[in-house]
Amino acid sequence: MDLRKCLLTKNNCYKAGKKITVKGVMWHSTGANNPNLKRYVQPDDGKLGNNPNNNDWNRALPDGREVCVHAFIGKDKNGKVCTYQTLPWNYRGWHCGGSGNDKYIGFEICEDDLKDKDYFNAVYKEAVELTAFLCKENGLNPKGENVIICHQDGHKLGIASNHSDVYHWFNKFGKDMDDVRNDVAKAMGQTSSSSTASKPSTSTSSSSYYKAFNSTSIVDGLKSIGVDSSMTNRKKIAAANGISNYSGDYDDNVKLLELAKKGKLKKPGSSTSTTTKPTTSSTQYYKKFKSTSIVDGLKSIGVDSSMNNRKKIAKANGISNYDGDYSDNVYLLELASQGKLKKA
Ligand SMILES: [Zn+2]
Repeated sequence: MDLRKCLLTKNNCYKAGKKITVKGVMWHSTGANNPNLKRYVQPDDGKLGNNPNNNDWNRALPDGREVCVHAFIGKDKNGKVCTYQTLPWNYRGWHCGGSGNDKYIGFEICEDDLKDKDYFNAVYKEAVELTAFLCKENGLNPKGENVIICHQDGHKLGIASNHSDVYHWFNKFGKDMDDVRNDVAKAMGQTSSSSTASKPSTSTSSSSYYKAFNSTSIVDGLKSIGVDSSMTNRKKIAAANGISNYSGDYDDNVKLLELAKKGKLKKPGSSTSTTTKPTTSSTQYYKKFKSTSIVDGLKSIGVDSSMNNRKKIAKANGISNYDGDYSDNVYLLELASQGKLKKA
């Protein structure tokens, strides 16, 4: 994936600045024969090329419409297929004309004449990798129900307007959203730990681990897989996962949810390592803090808040080109307030 960034700060959607909790990713394609990113993404950063037609989306109402997406995939001025992030990922986009905007990150793939197989394959691969990245960032299971959908799927679910993207294009090349979900899952598996691509996906014998689930609440999450979520049982589960003094603490719940997400939440009684020292959740994440300034916030927990170190922290949290942007800081502060800011 070649992920670049050019936020559409003049778009009314960006200005509205509403935040969402991301539950999925919705694929779109533009429905117009123009594979060039500069048609939509401006200003020219030297790689996009200039759009002299005053119809890009970095304006209050592009084409007079309330539209904005989180990213575009298409060609830069040199014909290289890449991705431009155009909204902070946790902003509410205006991409599907329905309540899907409240839950889904939405991106557009720039269509060409829908006949070029090489272009299709290139943007498909880029979109799969982008979606894998977004699923990881947001703890989403790519094969979860309605986690990865397209605009047309959204319409069938009653959460999006009646559009045919992306099937009218994808079907020509024998792809559908099931392929997408499988390919995203594959992409996530291959890029997970270290560089050994063919690592067997950990020998989690299903008898000793709970089924993977993704939830922001341990109680709801356990319920969702039919497991007793009483405090008594959660204490047992916590103990089986190395937390000996569980009392429902936020930090402990985050740790349990993290394990659950990976399908690594041990069942009580099945563990051979219940006596291992609880290595506290503080090893992976910074202590939770709330602040309106990332610099002040980091200082408040005794962490180096220099630009240099913030770059490292940003990188650990999925922002590769951090330069102190407001929206990036907002994102980092959001993570910090949830105790989910990963250590650099
Ligand atoms: Zn669409």
